[in-house]
Amino acid sequence: MTIFGSTGAEDASTAATDSGRPAGPQSRQQEQRGATLLEEARSLVPDAVGLRRSLHAWPEVGLHLPRTQQRLLSALDGLGLDVRTGQRLSSVTATLDGAKEGPTLLLRADMDALPVREATGLDFASRVPDAMHACGHDAHTAMLAGAAQLLSRHREELAGRIIFMFQPGEEGRHGARHMIEEGVLTAGGRAADAAFALHLMPGLPSGTVRLRPGPQMAASDKLRIVVRGRGGHASAPHTAADPIPVACEIVLALHTAVTRRIAADDPAVLTVSTLSAGSLPGIIPETVDITGTIRTVSQAARERLHGAVAQVAEGVAAAHGTAAEVTVEPGYPVTVNDSVFAGFVLRVAADVLGADRVEAMPAPAMTAEDFSYVLAAVPGALAFLGACPPGLTPDQAPELHSSRLVIDEDALASGIACHAAVALRYLSASGQDTAS
Ligand SMILES: [Zn+2]
Ligand SMILES: [Zn+2]
Repeated sequence: MTIFGSTGAEDASTAATDSGRPAGPQSRQQEQRGATLLEEARSLVPDAVGLRRSLHAWPEVGLHLPRTQQRLLSALDGLGLDVRTGQRLSSVTATLDGAKEGPTLLLRADMDALPVREATGLDFASRVPDAMHACGHDAHTAMLAGAAQLLSRHREELAGRIIFMFQPGEEGRHGARHMIEEGVLTAGGRAADAAFALHLMPGLPSGTVRLRPGPQMAASDKLRIVVRGRGGHASAPHTAADPIPVACEIVLALHTAVTRRIAADDPAVLTVSTLSAGSLPGIIPETVDITGTIRTVSQAARERLHGAVAQVAEGVAAAHGTAAEVTVEPGYPVTVNDSVFAGFVLRVAADVLGADRVEAMPAPAMTAEDFSYVLAAVPGALAFLGACPPGLTPDQAPELHSSRLVIDEDALASGIACHAAVALRYLSASGQDTAS
């Protein structure tokens, strides 16, 4: 398997072993180019903000986002890209051919909103009842459209091809997997050699970048347990098989199983998120319904925890004369950054934004992403881009998925510049400016 294209390999492999900044003239040249690119990205922010706000006001949820798709298509119009739309979903795939031959890089943005009622009070707040861009995907789309605009101006410097992947259905609908099945990874006529994506983080200082080699985000699996007992009169529990205390024991035993069966240095989270049973104080119910989420960052922990959940729930239920039916529905896999490419991105981002604004994360985030499907097929990286709104400290900023989510739109310039810089460096015609 080709891990990197011929021109990107040098930069990427050098960057991976480069923990500090080399102080040579080439590195100063890179910093200057990065600063110039950031300035150019800033000039595109008014357009990006306009696009972002128009998407924000009219959010669409799921795999079918016709209005979003139309708005994006008009933003990409006239840039000289080859633009295709999806069959099964309202995706947009655009390709940009550089002036010279070289590898193919995929850049991705997601476009879907969440079924959340917006409570920000912004003047461009959602006009759609119970839908909101509460995960920043409006900004992701605007940043990648801005990067397409910027990169189309730099076509002469590109040796290779860029695939711009605009996907619906990131929020639980496996949109990336659908796009892969429809051929996005080979949209340029040959398989993508590398892939890159950004996700905004309101809880990080604006304009900072965080990523790590290896697992960046967790696998997310849905858990459901139905505890079946035997209902009866609440005054005579000995004549029934009460599933409620059994469910309580199962919840506690599941939490214990995580700490006792998974190594402390292999992060895992099991959260029971809903627990429902019963109708009246005088009645012992027949069943208890438990749902939750399982987050892991290694396949070993994922398999071990799935097995433990079934064993614990069925065992506890059986001990009390009841039964547990356990279902684990696999969700998104672990988002794994290629270590070489992640090192490359850390270095490129430092050149664009300043070394003090870029840090390697010590541990993965336990959230999940369907860009994981792309990274399972193509080496690359997903990075977090800080967008803490002005006037708030990062720990005060509402989290992603909050109905009060607000971002710093100045961060859009950093996102546009990072997308563009990763592409320009990866598809550098000579490689000479990237070898330091
Ligand atoms: Zn989300
Ligand atoms: Zn998201």
